[in-house]
Amino acid sequence: MRVLIVGGGVAGLAAAWELVKHGHEVRLFEASPVLGGQVRTFEVGGGRLEIFYHHLFRSDTNIVALIDELGLGPDLEWIPSQVGFFARGRHYPFVGAVDLLKFSDVSFPTRIRLGLAALYLRRYKHWQAYEGKRARDWILKWVGREGYDRVWGALLRAKFGAKSEDVSLVWFWGKVHLRFASRQGGLLAREQLGYLKGSFGRLIDTLVDRLRGRGAVLETSAPAARIVIEDDRAVGVALRQPDGSERIERGDVVLATVPSYAFVNLVPELDAEYRARLESVQYQWATVLVLSMDRALSPTYWLTVTDDDCPFVVAVEQTNFVSPERYGGNHVIYFSNYCDPGDPAADESADETFERYLPFIRRINPDFDPSWVREKWLFKDRAGQPVVDADYHTRIPAHRTPIPGLYLANTTQVYPEDRGQNYSIRMGERVAQLMMSDLGGHTAPLEPEAIAAAEAVGAGSR
Ligand SMILES: Cc1cc2nc3c(=O)[nH]c(=O)nc-3n(C[C@H](O)[C@H](O)[C@H](O)COP(=O)(O)OP(=O)(O)OC[C@H]3O[C@@H](n4cnc5c(N)ncnc54)[C@H](O)[C@@H]3O)c2cc1C
Repeated sequence: MRVLIVGGGVAGLAAAWELVKHGHEVRLFEASPVLGGQVRTFEVGGGRLEIFYHHLFRSDTNIVALIDELGLGPDLEWIPSQVGFFARGRHYPFVGAVDLLKFSDVSFPTRIRLGLAALYLRRYKHWQAYEGKRARDWILKWVGREGYDRVWGALLRAKFGAKSEDVSLVWFWGKVHLRFASRQGGLLAREQLGYLKGSFGRLIDTLVDRLRGRGAVLETSAPAARIVIEDDRAVGVALRQPDGSERIERGDVVLATVPSYAFVNLVPELDAEYRARLESVQYQWATVLVLSMDRALSPTYWLTVTDDDCPFVVAVEQTNFVSPERYGGNHVIYFSNYCDPGDPAADESADETFERYLPFIRRINPDFDPSWVREKWLFKDRAGQPVVDADYHTRIPAHRTPIPGLYLANTTQVYPEDRGQNYSIRMGERVAQLMMSDLGGHTAPLEPEAIAAAEAVGAGSR
């Protein structure tokens, strides 16, 4: 079977790896000049850094298995996390349950209610019962107005903006459940976060080398313009050439791993029902300002800012996670924000964003001076975060599209968990299994559980 894959993020690469291991021929096309998608890296002080902050939780077992399989296991470090809150001018460390009791930004009864609610969600497994319900209503009921306004509602607003009130309880459950479940030794234990020495770019590079070693063809700067459909079946991909012409690549089956809004443009032939599902999903832009500095801003790796007027949601100081030595002695920090499509913030330059953020960076550290900054970068992604609203589960598109031979695997189909490398890798592997089970010709046995899981995506809602 000759498989064509559109999109060279971790989902596309993981699918390609699964397919070549089962004896199939793969050709993958990536629009940008580099592979890795949202996990691509750039250089800071001679080291490599992801354009968006990345770490793993202990519950991310699929990516850990892949890292081990590729021989990178010894370089996967588990590092105690330095997590904190910044609220109304004060830093609050948040590394253990005791810190919640000390979180004086909210009243003591609210702290207790927050702790009990987190414990409950950690233990609760029947997330399907939460479908159709809003996180806001549940938090207001069990944690109260203060806990919603000052803590969890503030986090929802920061990520989903005006859409935060509609966010599904399932999404919120996934965030809390998996985060706490990933703490080995229970809630009182210190959390550890995973990072690959030298960046997750090494995972991408190793995967790419192995794929090429097995004969896969991976093309960069190769944007797909459309999926070629003949006799109601996907038979190829038309690639846009620099001179405006098209080159047609033909295959037996096509997998697209692009965002839903890009997919609808690639396939005008999609039926109205499937297209409506794709178009119904809204994404928040991710915009991330990265600074390299001559000194640290704070002692915290992950500093969540809950002040409503702050234009960024979280300050992620990478060099409080791994040593500045890895970046030529530079201290590196990300300031992350999610914004609605059409928000002027999505069109800003790095300098404009920096100027807007400056008073709030000073709020975190009043001594901060722009002269500390050696370099700055601004990275954006229109498909930063799918908005998982209360009836989201009724609109998830299936991996098998209505067009025979055409499959879709993107972050909108990660459910009930939040998007993450682990789940995109798992999805890529499962969809590859589904495609092979549909078409046959594989040289190694398939995994019925993976196929059933892939078939279940979007199935409950039809
Ligand atoms: C701000 C931010 C922080 C994150 N933090 C973490 C974290 O801490 N830990 C973690 O595990 N995960 C994290 N993630 C999530 C993780 O990066 C993603 O879940 C994962 O990388 C998505 O992979 P993907 O292959 O599904 O999609 P993508 O990486 O988006 O890949 C899709 C690819 O398709 C390409 N493409 C689009 N259109 C075309 C076309 N027409 N032709 C050819 N190619 C095309 C794109 O260029 C892109 O490379 C974060 C994401 C963001 C945005």
